[in-house]
Amino acid sequence: MKSERKSRNTKQKELILNVLKNMKTHPTIYELYSEITKIDNTIGQATIYRNIKKFVEEQIIYVIKTRNGIDRYDYYNKHIHFECLGCNKIYDIYDNEVFNVLEKRYINDNIQILNYNITLDGYCNKCQNTLFKNNNN
Ligand SMILES: [Zn+2]
Ligand SMILES: [Zn+2]
Repeated sequence: MKSERKSRNTKQKELILNVLKNMKTHPTIYELYSEITKIDNTIGQATIYRNIKKFVEEQIIYVIKTRNGIDRYDYYNKHIHFECLGCNKIYDIYDNEVFNVLEKRYINDNIQILNYNITLDGYCNKCQNTLFKNNNN
């Protein structure tokens, strides 16, 4: 009975992590919750929120503090973010040239880098086209 329960907990954890991984949109906790319950509607909101909190404590996932104060979630997976000021979307940037500079700079400082918590601000392609279209005409 107990092991049955444990395996259900493990499955729920895996599902939560997989959904976050597959979404690739840096979801809010509510967006995560909506997506997870589409797959398994037996998972309660409290369970999801509790597990997310735990994953954050365990440094599996981390909170992105966005400009508009809404927390979004992401994996620890070395990359940089670009936050669009128009649509508030967060894009992932993988730039090995930048990463190499960071790794080389701190390699002798005996620190372990989990992520590059760097966010670039600006306007994405789509927003440049819609927001600034009238100015150009
Ligand atoms: Zn945009
Ligand atoms: Zn990201």
